[in-house]
Amino acid sequence: MNQETIYKNLPNVLQNGLITLFDYLQYSKRHGEKYHAFKAFLKAKEFQSREELEQLQNEALVKFLEHCKQESPYFREVLSNIDVSKGIEILNSIPICSKEEFRKNIPNIIAGNKKQMYKSKTGGTTGKAMQVYFRWDDLEERFAILDYFRERFGYKFGEKTAWFSGKDMLTKRDLAKNRFWKQDWKYNIRYYSTFNISEFSLIHYINDLKKYKPAFIVGFPSSIVEIARYALRNNIKLGYKVKAIFPTAESKVESEAKDLEKFFGGGVYDQYASSEGACFITECDQGNLHFEMLSGIIEIVDEDNNPSQEGRMLITAFHTRGTPLLRYDIGDSMKWSDLTNCSCGRKTPIVEVIHGRVNDYIFSKERGKCNLGNISNCIKHVKGVRRFQVVQNEIDTIQVLVENDVEYDDQDEKKFLDELRFRLGDKINIEFKYLKEIPREKSGKFRIVKNSIKNLKELQ
Ligand SMILES: [Zn+2]
Repeated sequence: MNQETIYKNLPNVLQNGLITLFDYLQYSKRHGEKYHAFKAFLKAKEFQSREELEQLQNEALVKFLEHCKQESPYFREVLSNIDVSKGIEILNSIPICSKEEFRKNIPNIIAGNKKQMYKSKTGGTTGKAMQVYFRWDDLEERFAILDYFRERFGYKFGEKTAWFSGKDMLTKRDLAKNRFWKQDWKYNIRYYSTFNISEFSLIHYINDLKKYKPAFIVGFPSSIVEIARYALRNNIKLGYKVKAIFPTAESKVESEAKDLEKFFGGGVYDQYASSEGACFITECDQGNLHFEMLSGIIEIVDEDNNPSQEGRMLITAFHTRGTPLLRYDIGDSMKWSDLTNCSCGRKTPIVEVIHGRVNDYIFSKERGKCNLGNISNCIKHVKGVRRFQVVQNEIDTIQVLVENDVEYDDQDEKKFLDELRFRLGDKINIEFKYLKEIPREKSGKFRIVKNSIKNLKELQ
């Protein structure tokens, strides 16, 4: 029996125990010395002048480049004729690393002993599965950045939190009992399933939230908003106010944020990073998005790879020393703002808009909306998918376009199909189609979900 089967056969109370234990093991590693030291450092530098921040950023860049050159066989070659001690001056002489180039070369990119690193599988929001590695000290510092951002809005780790993630944790017994969540007792995190949100189950989610009274809500905004909208439609009150809502994986949409605030009573505060480990962009109390300069460097380039105010993002992320992101073409685009200062007091660059994470979903009559994050996770365990796109032009049928390579076989199609069925139910027609190249959008962006029926009245 594998771990998953063992877990699924345990009684609920022991499942919660395992989840608590798993969290304990994760968090005791994430919240070590480096975590606390880096958070203190961020706090001390929060309102520094731009010049000082640029200097700190450049020092971190040089260290990062030296690490890449020493530890990664791939980057040793790429950087062989480059004097990395010059830092930012020589950055644009380093070749751009496309997503495909990165994915293909991961075994050679890994810097250091992967057995000592944290392995992270990602579906990626652009339809390519990959496995990246994080050093534990990098993870600590990444969580320090994330938590420091959340703490600016009152967040306290250990206070009751409702988490809406793509974790598959429920059993048939849970569903029979209308229990759509699992509990971490130690850190007071309740994990709500985002796979089972439907017109029928929503009331159970709401009743449980009213009873549990989480102070914070974290997770896929497109899922959380379903709850808020159902409650608003049916005139159900929450009965208290949550302190803050933190979206993950998708970007904040104004109309959704409004409904979330109306029902939950707390503000929605946005942040950008990625599962590959991109540097951070975080919202401030004035509603502006600031680039966190101590987490890396973002270059924006146009179609000819020339620097631009708006265009594709090239990511250099200091906390990716396991599988370094160095001038990594992440597949998202953004625009720097014209604003040069913000009344919050931070001197970091302001981002006007990030075009990356389109909030899209597939609809099935059986299961309701399945969001982009959950769809992209379908290929986590499927090998040989270079890219895929799920297209819905009719309510009862979806097409799955796949760019595959030789590794991909019938078993993989079956696995892929099972994952889709798990999320969308047994009734919807699912057609696979294999293409040499899935066309991109006019904007150059690749979309993993294309839904042309989402404006249908019955889906609202
Ligand atoms: Zn600000």
